[in-house]
Amino acid sequence: MTARTHDAFAFASLVTVATIYPPVSLNLATMFTSIVGNIVGALTPDLDQASNRLWDLLPAGNFVGKILRPLLLGHRTLSHSILGGVIYYKVLEFVLPKILNASYVNIGIVTVSIMIGFISHLIADSLTKEGIPLFFPFKMKIGIPPVSFMRITTGGFIENVLILPVIAIYLIWLVNTKKEILLSVLKLLD
Ligand SMILES: [Zn+2]
Repeated sequence: MTARTHDAFAFASLVTVATIYPPVSLNLATMFTSIVGNIVGALTPDLDQASNRLWDLLPAGNFVGKILRPLLLGHRTLSHSILGGVIYYKVLEFVLPKILNASYVNIGIVTVSIMIGFISHLIADSLTKEGIPLFFPFKMKIGIPPVSFMRITTGGFIENVLILPVIAIYLIWLVNTKKEILLSVLKLLD
């Protein structure tokens, strides 16, 4: 799926989780870092593609990308699996406390938001015809629903025309039905 679809799907997932497990404390820095982190998490599994926007954000990103991409073992392999998710989580656990200041930012909330983005990417890709190698290094491809002809074609009509409006309608519905919870989360900010 395209980066745009993944961004939208990740954000909708983040808001959904926030309504089910609202944070007990939240400040502005944590909220912004979490939203940016959620998008970064959603784009990470496709770092194996040269066109990934995250490479453009890094200085000399394309050079770094050329060196790192072979480590990801080709498109939709390690980066789209449970094993890849566990490794990513371990890397975040190690790196985030070193680059974020824990006295301003709640690193736990940021970590969860990044992982929500990552997991939402795998769920979105599993809706496509190609499926994902969830149990990599086992090659078996997993998809929802299990029969591939019922799934979405990447870049096809459903993805290009239907998905974004459906996500927008879902978000409007969610905000309306969970208004109280979301407002209580926003009230934590002051
Ligand atoms: Zn992907």
